[in-house]
Amino acid sequence: MRAEATGCTRCDLYRCGTQTVFGEGPLDARIMFVGEQPGDQEDRAGKPFVGPAGQLLDRALVEAGVDRSATYVTNAVKHFKFEQRGKRRIHSKPNGPEIDACRWWIEQERILVRPPITVALGATAARSLFGKAVTIGAMRGRPHTVPDGGEAWVTVHPSFLLRVQDNKEQEYARFVGDLRVIGERARALA
Ligand code: SF4
Repeated sequence: MRAEATGCTRCDLYRCGTQTVFGEGPLDARIMFVGEQPGDQEDRAGKPFVGPAGQLLDRALVEAGVDRSATYVTNAVKHFKFEQRGKRRIHSKPNGPEIDACRWWIEQERILVRPPITVALGATAARSLFGKAVTIGAMRGRPHTVPDGGEAWVTVHPSFLLRVQDNKEQEYARFVGDLRVIGERARALA
């Protein structure tokens, strides 16, 4: 599937970036994390969550007692969408049709991994999983059922924690708290 995705042309984003950045992790993962799209570093490395947001997620998972190596990490959209400004590639948010086009790959990953718990990191991931726009604040902190029948949780994307100016420490602590509850829930379902 990973090899097949390298040639994907389901939306125009195949023209963007260096390569398709597919998900990775063990196929028996208890938790699947879904982010928005690869960033600049992920696009170059061909691996999800290796840039600053991924490093923040790593740190938060350690603090929450969740073993990242036992989780599957992927993105709702698998190509890096950006605007070129001089030498810099500035992140550009994927639109609805792009999220919908790339949902096909998430569905294939979910069929293969069948995670007991899926975590939507941010609004784009939540839109992909639930098939409609949702409000993170209204859905955070409790389990939901996704259309394919799995259990899903919703929290912020770690890039939000890098950008936020107000209450930065409290927002990070709340994120770690979300991950701690999700880890406990995954253990309870094992
Ligand atoms: S973003 Fe997703 S659907 Fe669009 S070309 Fe890339 S892999 Fe295919």
